[in-house]
Amino acid sequence: MTAEKPSRRILAIGSGKGGVGKSTLSANLAVSLARAGIRTGLIDADIYGPSQPRLMGSEGIKPTAEDKKLIPVQTAFGVPMLSMGQMVKPGQAIAWRGPMAGGALGQLVDAEWGDAELLVVDMPPGTGDVQLNMIQKHRPAGALIVSTPQDLALIDAARAIDLFRQADVPIVGLVENMAGYACPHCGEISDPFGAGGAEAAAREMEIPFLGRIPLDIAIRRASDAGFPPAAEDGPQGAAFAEIAAQLIRSLSLRAG
Ligand code: ADP
Repeated sequence: MTAEKPSRRILAIGSGKGGVGKSTLSANLAVSLARAGIRTGLIDADIYGPSQPRLMGSEGIKPTAEDKKLIPVQTAFGVPMLSMGQMVKPGQAIAWRGPMAGGALGQLVDAEWGDAELLVVDMPPGTGDVQLNMIQKHRPAGALIVSTPQDLALIDAARAIDLFRQADVPIVGLVENMAGYACPHCGEISDPFGAGGAEAAAREMEIPFLGRIPLDIAIRRASDAGFPPAAEDGPQGAAFAEIAAQLIRSLSLRAG
């Protein structure tokens, strides 16, 4: 008996450079989407720094396989997950060349995702082999780009946007992360680097601006502890949920 392949869509989360919070955003958006009733799986394709097992509180848990298909790890947040980091020993650098990384990405995408209708994919930063493989072989339904308010990150982000655009992958939007500083005492947000840069850049590039996530020590602490802040109500969770709601609209996702 051949099971019909479900129509599952891929949302690629990219950035021009590392350290801008792409993995943090991927984990939290996946959790927010699941809380909104969207059956969501999470793939960590960041071969340079796979961090989803830590962010999702599943470090050290290995996926199993059945009929040569990987079975995703169930996290505590309603989001099954697979990571490049689970394919090697912890701490071991992944120095894969293109074809190997492409083969590993294929195994993650074609895993046993059950009835998941959306796969959120945490891409490596930049515009390398994994991106090309993703675009050519797996045809994402959309790409979301993360940037910090600094100009340099935005220039790099523009490059990442160009790559997806040239391949006709719709850019669902730009998210500005570490935008303004959330005071740990009173919650007030101040803007040491100025405000509005990413929004203006998005307007110029004619892509939707999906919102800002402040630089907030509560986000860093919860992430380090393996508890995505989007799993809870509160100001941090609300910021991610707001972006997830826009994604649900722009990708026409249905809860159920
Ligand atoms: P990337 O995937 O782009 O390399 P990460 O998601 O790993 O970046 O984030 C880099 C570091 O910044 C991590 O320590 C993470 O906890 C922290 N971080 C990310 N976003 C925020 C934020 N909005 N507020 C506070 N810390 C953040």
